[in-house]
Order: sequence, then structure tokens, then C-alpha cells
Amino acid sequence: MTKADPRLEIRNLVKTFAGKRVVDDVSLTIEPGHVTCLLGPSGCGKSTTLRMIAGVDMQDTGTIQMDGRLICDTVFRIPPERRSIGLMFQDFALFPHLSVGDNVGFGLKGAKADRRRRVEEMLDRVGLLHYVDEFPHQLSGGEQQRVALARALAPQPRVMLMDEPFSGLDNRLRDGIRDDTLALLKEEGASVLLVTHEPEEAMRMADEIALMRKGKIVQRGAPYNIYNAPVDKAAVAFFSDIN
Ligand code: ADP
Ligand code: MG
Repeated sequence: MTKADPRLEIRNLVKTFAGKRVVDDVSLTIEPGHVTCLLGPSGCGKSTTLRMIAGVDMQDTGTIQMDGRLICDTVFRIPPERRSIGLMFQDFALFPHLSVGDNVGFGLKGAKADRRRRVEEMLDRVGLLHYVDEFPHQLSGGEQQRVALARALAPQPRVMLMDEPFSGLDNRLRDGIRDDTLALLKEEGASVLLVTHEPEEAMRMADEIALMRKGKIVQRGAPYNIYNAPVDKAAVAFFSDIN
């Protein structure tokens, strides 16, 4: 991923459930090679936004473009598997019946030897090549998380969508895995949209934060700008949880 790095552009997305606008006119640009964090309290519409970008949920109105090319509006829709988007969710578990290597190779196409090379490369990069023939249950939670990251990045997705990927992890492990994940995402040059409800995580990982509340983006900017100049009292209170 070099000069073809994509810019993901979301315009005026709206999603209504049972008459309630859970995503209410959201516009967002994810710059090439950047980690953009969609940050906000539980229930504010983050996952719904991500699901529409992934293509597993359909917006009521609004458009999604990559590099100026339409990937989805209300009549036209490129299916999820053809969007070149990598997904990593907290509960997006590894396949228990497949070896670690087969998990990482699951989404790969091409000749067997090439697929094997890419699997080994990715496992090596997360420091787990020695587990290639083991099964997921033989690994710790943190190790499974790293395998899931290797699996998501193996097909070289143009955009990575991550929904609270670290929330199932032990506190002691989390900081280290966040840092390792960020390093790998940067190495791969991925454009990332990371959803989190934890200000600390956004501060640690984001190039840019989009603060979301009740279905709307209420503030955008570099982490320290948002931290130092929160848009309103509710944002101050939200950030005051950082210790
Ligand atoms: P977040 O990820 O920020 O916690 P979600 O996007 O999961 O928030 O949910 C936003 C709101 O939409 C919540 O009130 C949730 O209950 C509601 N919601 C999400 N998915 C559905 C669904 N499939 N049907 C009905 N309501 C939903
Ligand atoms: Mg969510």
C-alpha cells in the first residue's frame, strides 16, 4: 500500500432503528495512512456506523466513497467482500477448528506457495510464527488477538475497521498490544477507522479523533487539540475519566 492509499469518505450517513436516528447525518473522512478514532460513549452509534462502512448494514441515506469512487449509496452497493476492507471486532473470533496458519490464510487468494509465504510473513511480524500449526485454544487471549490482527491484515486491505478490538483483553496486556498493533498498522500503511469508548485508547492510538454523541459527530481534530479544548461540558466530563 503506497501511492494507492485510499481516502475513505462518508457523507451524511443516516440510520434509523424503530423510528430513532441512531446515526444522524454523520460525515467523516479517513485520511490515507492515518488512524482515525471514532470515540464516544456506549450506544452513541459507533458500531452501526462501522457496519455500514463494512457493508454488513445498509444506511437509510448517505454515501460512502473510496478514492472518489462510490462504494455505496441508497441504490448502488458494492458487496462487503469486494470493498477491500479488513475487519477486526472484539467478538470476531478465530475459527476454532482451523490452525493458526489456516486462520491467517483464510481470506487469501492466489497460489498455495504465495499464500503460505504471506501467512508466515504476517505471523512473523506479530511474533507468533512458532504457533503456525497450533490451534487457537492453545494460545492466550493476547496471542489470539495478535493472530486476529495478522489475519485481518494478510489480504492487504486498503482500509481497516476495528471495533473495540482490545476490550476483551486483560488490563495488563492491553497497552502493549495497543502499541504493537499501532506499529504494525503503520508499517502496513493501512488507513484505519478504530471505534472505542475509551478516551485513553483514542489518545494513545489516533492521528485524528472524531468525537461522537447521540448519533452525531460533535468534534473532530488531533487528540491533544480535542483533549485541551473539548467542545462542551459533556466532552470535558467524558475526557475526565483518563487517569
Ligand atoms: P455503540 O457502538 O456506540 O455502542 P451502536 O451503534 O451499537 O452503539 O448502537 C446505537 C444504538 O442503536 C443503540 O441504542 C442500539 O441499541 C441501537 N441499535 C443498534 N443496532 C440495532 C438493531 N439492529 N436494531 C435495533 N436497534 C439497534
Ligand atoms: Mg459498539
